[in-house]
Amino acid sequence: MSWTSQEVRLAARPTGRPDASTWEFTTTQVPDPEPGQLVVRVELLSLDPAMRGWLNDVRSYLPPVGLGEVMRAIGAGRVIASAHEDFAVGDAVSGMFGVREFALSDGTDLTRLDLDLAPMGTWLGALGMPGMTAYFGLHDVGRVQPGDTVLVSAAAGAVGSTVAQLAKAKGARVIGVAGGPEKVAWLRELGLDEVIDRREGSLMRAVRRAAPQGIDVYFDNVGGELLDAALANLARGARVVICGAISSYNDETLAQGPRRYLALLVFRATMQGFVVFDYADRYPQAVAEISQLITDGRLVATETVLEGGIVAFPDALLGLFDGVNIGKLLLRL
Ligand code: NDP
Repeated sequence: MSWTSQEVRLAARPTGRPDASTWEFTTTQVPDPEPGQLVVRVELLSLDPAMRGWLNDVRSYLPPVGLGEVMRAIGAGRVIASAHEDFAVGDAVSGMFGVREFALSDGTDLTRLDLDLAPMGTWLGALGMPGMTAYFGLHDVGRVQPGDTVLVSAAAGAVGSTVAQLAKAKGARVIGVAGGPEKVAWLRELGLDEVIDRREGSLMRAVRRAAPQGIDVYFDNVGGELLDAALANLARGARVVICGAISSYNDETLAQGPRRYLALLVFRATMQGFVVFDYADRYPQAVAEISQLITDGRLVATETVLEGGIVAFPDALLGLFDGVNIGKLLLRL
């Protein structure tokens, strides 16, 4: 038996927003697994802002996706054939399968998913890589404490919505920034103390108004203008967590650096970046805590699932930059 699998390959490195010329669709036959291998039918594909960075031929925490290679992507699905002693047909798993419908795997770096604990989509969101990013960024890098004022950008997204709720659970006062009234309303329902619509008015003034005593932790997912607004409004000893800078990922020229960086001196603050993969050995601790909060009704895990199958991948990825998602953005294959 073999399976016909559509795949998406990198055809050309994009300048600015990826478009049709960035991608090539190919078809391959996935063979029966050899001893020690298994085949996964990928059901949900994770759309991550980092995927844009992986297209650039620059030095980073992972090598760039090579021209002609299958696009790197996290996915989740079920084992449909197995000659691997640790995995049986029907097991739900996640892994770095790439943008493809069927994946042949030797089991390395696969995560078994407990669907009794949470549905498959949540294992790519609050209990997956974005949730781990939120947990370690907020606790280890941000060193959040009860009573802190926490500002989080892209607060209605996968990482941001988890950060906001973990910070609330820790006893912080939480200010979220998101784009548009629907996201603002959703974040208010989640119980955030203040929500700023990034599309309305001056960010600098809005942050000052929301945090008159200053910000203790800024969890930065977007960079740009909001990073400057946060820096200008820090509290003494603040921690600025550099998680991402989605506002610049499609820029054709290098982004303008933070103009307010001297605030780090004035407020005796730190600004530190991190990569979630460095915390892999502690993921079980984060999964246990986040799943407990979900079970207790103190953390809402939400996903936006796009339909359309693998051919919808190019547009689905752009959805991140257009802000189409509440919670984790996924594509159903
Ligand atoms: P999200 O689910 O937050 O989706 C992206 C969101 O970013 C959009 O919904 C939109 O929200 C916002 N956005 C898009 N364009 C802009 C813009 N120009 N300016 C401001 N906001 C914008 O994605 P993730 O939760 O997966 O990722 C969030 C961040 O975390 C990214 O920067 C990502 O690179 C980073 N990350 C870092 C990791 C690490 O190890 N350091 C690991 C994983 C993610 P809205 O409409 O509300 O503005």
